[in-house]
Order: sequence, then structure tokens, then C-alpha cells
Amino acid sequence: DNTQPKKPSWIRVKAPGGTGYAETRRIMRDNNLVTVCEEAGCPNVGECWSQGHATMMIMGEICTRGCTFCNVATGRPDVLDVFEPGRVADAVQKLGLKHVVITSVDRDDLEDGGAEHFAQTIRAVRHRSPDTTIEILTPDFLKCDSSVLETVVAARPDVFNHNLETVPGLYPTVRPGARYFHSLRLLQRVKEIDPGMFTKSGIMVGLGEDAQAVRQVMDDMRAADVDFLTIGQYLQPTPKHHRVDRFVTPEEFAAYEKAAFGKGFLMVSATPLTRSSYHAGDDFARLRAA
Ligand code: SF4
Ligand code: SF4
Repeated sequence: DNTQPKKPSWIRVKAPGGTGYAETRRIMRDNNLVTVCEEAGCPNVGECWSQGHATMMIMGEICTRGCTFCNVATGRPDVLDVFEPGRVADAVQKLGLKHVVITSVDRDDLEDGGAEHFAQTIRAVRHRSPDTTIEILTPDFLKCDSSVLETVVAARPDVFNHNLETVPGLYPTVRPGARYFHSLRLLQRVKEIDPGMFTKSGIMVGLGEDAQAVRQVMDDMRAADVDFLTIGQYLQPTPKHHRVDRFVTPEEFAAYEKAAFGKGFLMVSATPLTRSSYHAGDDFARLRAA
């Protein structure tokens, strides 16, 4: 049965528009860049783009994995474009971003999983826009030598984000090809390599998990020294994707947020429309000012 529960009133998506939106779109097109904002059909795109926030996706539009919540195409990826780090840096500068989120598809076809390309992109952005804070949202590098993580961390992003996406019990149906404890350990290793780096992770809810399992994920993340947490409602991108089990209420989100702060996360965003990169820059600026 693939019938969806009816969308509640708190899931309201504003139609994208405004000059900031159009300008962001133009610069992304000119630089031949792909954004997660568009690919994932993110409900916040109007708001984020008019404020100059965006999440760019590097290393192509085809992923070697097939997570059942994700709208990115699965298949054999394109060859890496050596000029892409420069184009990302150019777009970040033209958009005048204060905070940029850089993510990628999974590249199980590459020996280093794209680690060096990530590092080059970070360095290129840093060089052109030294005041811009850089957040990366990485794949799990599951099939790579563990040293590739050092390559990425050595490029010194400000925030290292890797999403656990869901509770461990749902991995086989939601995130096939990934392993919960591998992803958790990756986050912990980032902190071990560079204790000064902020680490971040997130999950979607409404996929069929229960509250107890969500709280256990929070404990696991804190055991791995994760600093920032995001929790948002899963929305089905197309009828072919994993179904929405239920819409978690704003009250339940508020309870998650309170529990998370109680467990010691430095920053928590848990609302129905929270996305991994939603208002990431504002939060980070607030934290640095504190
Ligand atoms: Fe893009 Fe993230 Fe904003 Fe969504 S929340 S529009 S993915 S920057
Ligand atoms: Fe989508 Fe990332 Fe999963 Fe690839 S690895 S299918 S891009 S969520």
C-alpha cells in the first residue's frame, strides 16, 4: 500500500520567487553547477535562495547508490571535472555567500571516493572567499581506505557534516548500501583527526521510526562527539520513493529538540521543514559570536 498520509497544515511550501532566487539560479546555471535545493525539491528553496543560501552538489548528478528517499539518479557517474572546484569558488564569490554548503553524490567508482576533489573544492573556495565559512556534507567513503578522510579534514572545512539519515533499523529499506555504524564511526574519526572541527549530522523522521530509536541515535551521535544535529520531516519526492509513514507533529519536534539540547548538542534544529543545510549559516554565525 503506497497511499500517503494527507499533508498537514504545518507542511507549507512557499512558491519560489523574488530577485535573489532568480539571481542565484542564473549564477548556478552560468557556472554549470547543480544544487541540492533543486535536485531534492527542497521546500525551503524560495526562502534560502532569496537570502543567498544554497547547497551545491559536486562530482556530477549521477550517484552510485540508490537511497530510497533520494531523488538523485542512480547509475554510472560522469568523469570528474577538474575545473569544477574553480567554478564552485567562482559562484560562491559572485553570490557573496557568508556560508556555503558543499555536498556530493556517492562515488563508489572512485578509489578515494572523491576525497581529493572535495579537498580541492574547499581550498578553492577558501582562496577566493576567505571569510566564507564552509560546511561540507560528505558521502560515507565506505569502500575507501580510511586515510581518505584525512585528506578531506586536512583541507579544513569549518563544519564536517555527514548525515545518518535514519535510525539503524530502517537502513535496509531507506539507505541500502550504507552502514549505520560505519557512518557513526566516520563522524567520530573526524573529531579524532581534528578535535577543533565542528561535526554535524542529521536524520529525517516520518519514515517509520519510533521516538525511542530517535533518542538512541542522539545518544550514539553524542558518543561520537557530534556537535550539531538536524531533524526534519521526510517528504516523498515522487510516488516511486519511500512512502511517508506519518507526519511528525510540531510538538514532537519540539520534544526532540529539547531532548537533544539536554544530551549536549551545541546546535539543534528540529522542525518539520528542517533540512540538513537549512539556516546553517545563521546558526554557525550565532555560535561563533557566542
Ligand atoms: Fe537548499 Fe538547504 Fe535551503 Fe533546502 S534548506 S533550499 S537544500 S540550502
Ligand atoms: Fe542520494 Fe546521497 Fe543516497 Fe546518493 S548517497 S542516493 S546522493 S542520499
